Amino acid sequence: MKGLYVHIPFCEHICFYCDFAKRVPKNKSMMDEYLLYLKKDFLALDSDKKHYDTIYIGGGTPSLLDIDQLTTLFELFKSYNPVEYTIEVNPESYTHEKGLLFKQYGINRISLGVQSFEQPILDYIGRKHKNEQVFDAVKSLKSIGIDNISIDLIFAIPGQTMASIKHDLDMLETLDVTHVSYYSLILEEKTVFHYKYLNNAFKKADIDLEADMYLYIQDRLARLGFEQYEISNFAKAGLYSKHNHLYWTMAPYDAIGAGAHGFDGQKRYYNYRDLPQYYEKVRQGSYIETQESYLSDTLIFGLRTLKGIHIETVNQRHSIDLLEKYKDIQKFIDLGLLQIEDNYLKLTKKGLLLGNQVFEVFI
Ligand code: SF4
Repeated sequence: MKGLYVHIPFCEHICFYCDFAKRVPKNKSMMDEYLLYLKKDFLALDSDKKHYDTIYIGGGTPSLLDIDQLTTLFELFKSYNPVEYTIEVNPESYTHEKGLLFKQYGINRISLGVQSFEQPILDYIGRKHKNEQVFDAVKSLKSIGIDNISIDLIFAIPGQTMASIKHDLDMLETLDVTHVSYYSLILEEKTVFHYKYLNNAFKKADIDLEADMYLYIQDRLARLGFEQYEISNFAKAGLYSKHNHLYWTMAPYDAIGAGAHGFDGQKRYYNYRDLPQYYEKVRQGSYIETQESYLSDTLIFGLRTLKGIHIETVNQRHSIDLLEKYKDIQKFIDLGLLQIEDNYLKLTKKGLLLGNQVFEVFI
């Protein structure tokens, strides 16, 4: 399996929690120029290795592009016929016409940025859409025949209560979608929330309430027929994200666009987030290699999945004895955060709540 990640770094507004590579475009021609460099970036990839089982167009907000720009983008990839072809969509920039274009170019999976169904919470985190736009988008996509729809939601937002989470899941139930990515709010540096935090104007959610919310989400989604297959991801009918699975299993994927990260099977590489720097790198035809450890990524990404990591495979691939190299693994087993089952090392139910503590061992 091999994937392609395509980054579109434009958003209509900046959400207060977001640390993705994004900016508000000054005008249409700024996005047109970006697409020219994106094309050069893509054409510079080794054509012998261009075969993609998955394509994921993320951002930013890809659905912010207009019909002509989307057509230019999709034309680049039209000969690849991936089994899974995803685009990220925000409800406020979706139109039925864009949905028809997605279908025409073989896009078969939508990741819809919802985050919450409560207007005060949406206002608090800086999102601009209304619930009606979410319902209209899902209805439109289904009428077009794109049924594999994932919804992004966030919990542990200051101000959210258990009643808020129940309400969000009630609304989710009525939408009848196939996949949910449900993340806890992380206070990332250089975000609006972080700035507020430094000025004592942002208070993180209570940790016990966050744990209660997570347990409720797991239980309620299970009752709705979703299988949890990763710390934050839940799917119906085995419709796991094939593209994300590539990340978690350290399979190779190409990446194009500002701020995009790729992996060739051995090394990670990335592009600058800053557009002039990215354009210069594209002109030079080069990426920046990172020093990030392949082993550390393998362990952290693998442990995020409910299946865990196969100890023998890791030992052979990295010429190590995992349990010997990381003696703290035994400590976490004793604490009930990790377990070994059929030679797979994985998080326990309690460990899923406290994964970040475990991952620190591997950084
Ligand atoms: S969360 Fe999404 S829509 Fe909001 S600023 Fe970040 S990339 Fe843009």
